[in-house]
Amino acid sequence: MGYEVVIGLETHVELSTESKLFCSCGGHGKGSEPNDCVCPACCGMPGMLPVVNRQALELAIKAGFMLNCKINQYTTFDKKSYYYPDLPAAYQTTQWFHPICVEGLVDVEVDGEIRQIGIKQIHVEEDAGKLVHTNDSSLVDYNRTSVPLIEIVTKPDFRSAKEVISYLKALKSKLQFAGISECEEGAMRCDINISVRPEGSDQLGVRTEIKNMSSLTSIEEAINKESVRHIDAIERGTETLTQGTRRWDDVKKRTFPMRDKETAADYRYFPDPNVMPIVIDDEWLNQIRASMPQTADAQVERYVGLGLSAKEANALVAESNIATLLDKVMDRGIDIKTAAGWILTDCLGILKRNNIAVKDLSLDDSKLAWIIKATADGTITRNAGKKVLSAVILDNVDPEKFCGDNNLTAQNDLEAIKAVVAKAIEQNPNAVADYKSGKEKAIGAIFGAAMRELRGTASPDIINKTLLELLNQ
Ligand code: ADP
Ligand code: MG
Ligand code: ZN
Repeated sequence: MGYEVVIGLETHVELSTESKLFCSCGGHGKGSEPNDCVCPACCGMPGMLPVVNRQALELAIKAGFMLNCKINQYTTFDKKSYYYPDLPAAYQTTQWFHPICVEGLVDVEVDGEIRQIGIKQIHVEEDAGKLVHTNDSSLVDYNRTSVPLIEIVTKPDFRSAKEVISYLKALKSKLQFAGISECEEGAMRCDINISVRPEGSDQLGVRTEIKNMSSLTSIEEAINKESVRHIDAIERGTETLTQGTRRWDDVKKRTFPMRDKETAADYRYFPDPNVMPIVIDDEWLNQIRASMPQTADAQVERYVGLGLSAKEANALVAESNIATLLDKVMDRGIDIKTAAGWILTDCLGILKRNNIAVKDLSLDDSKLAWIIKATADGTITRNAGKKVLSAVILDNVDPEKFCGDNNLTAQNDLEAIKAVVAKAIEQNPNAVADYKSGKEKAIGAIFGAAMRELRGTASPDIINKTLLELLNQ
């Protein structure tokens, strides 16, 4: 008999807020020392009252828009009680009764086919701290405590590991694109709920939950291994399947039981009396909707409409920082073709030669615009423009000052160019003789000498023209 694998995901991502969920501690939980971004509120001291971070709610709502959810305009925070040393208050503040977003849908592409995955809900909650184990003790670091997260819960709609991987990639790019989360390496953590059932059945099978997975390779392996374990248990009676949480062992390549499944009753969920229910009015919702960035597809379409090729547009949109740079440079009056050329050819070339990832490019749009304009109006040559660009990207120099300091400003002074070219002619009598006897190529030596002398500050065209003029006089 054939079996169908059924998977539902719970994915945690950190929101890109300035401060924690209920206090003003900053730093995203990344202190330079343990426990140096904490305060009495996030350390769970008695009597401290939480203040909800408005930005965290906005980012969660944006996530809801990205995943086509309905936004609950009445939303609450609730206490989930459990004891563990990394949780100083002995409860986590999360959303249980009225999560902020519900009933979404996201398209997932596998082998050219689109499948729709339902989103059950998105809720906001605080992260826990971290335990650091040494040889003879365990230490707690509360820096991460109360950093805002969203948990995105799907319906049990996945049918293969491939669909899950494709979903996670799409999710990451959507969240990054809309500035909701940086989704740093390893920071998107998933709980994978998995069951199997006979093909054609519409009943859900007994599920297990593999906790805290972040690498895509391990996620794929874990799903494939765990589904085989389920099928063996059912077909061959190798073991009895029970609902429970498991952990993936990346060395042994199998899952191990962690604990029996807790039920909601174990957590004693109840409304947090310290946080008032939140009403999201239409005005606020509309403001957030208006601040949503364009989707990637729409952005590609816009660039193509403005004259770029589909290839250029896709290359720009693939990395949000260079697409933003393009928009800003265009806002400074530079046409899209020219701007895209400088970004895709010159900037990316410099990055590649210096082994810098595109996402790490930080280039001030005003500096790039200055270079493009200075090149276009002849203040500097194209060649000098490239040199300045490289110095701006690598050392963030001021382009105008750099040109002055390095004598890169184009010699518009024709007399000066003429003098340099004349000198080059004088110093290369053999080449001149060759040229005059019909070997046109011999001119290259003289041209090169003049170029070197002018150090790329005069355009090759002008040098060439001057040279021919002088030789043919
Ligand atoms: P709980 O409250 O016990 O965590 P949820 O209903 O919130 O249960 O489901 C948690 C996740 O498990 C969701 O992503 C859901 O789609 C998934 N899920 C539920 N039942 C199954 C099942 N039988 N097989 C696979 N995934 C499931
Ligand atoms: Mg759950
Ligand atoms: Zn704090």
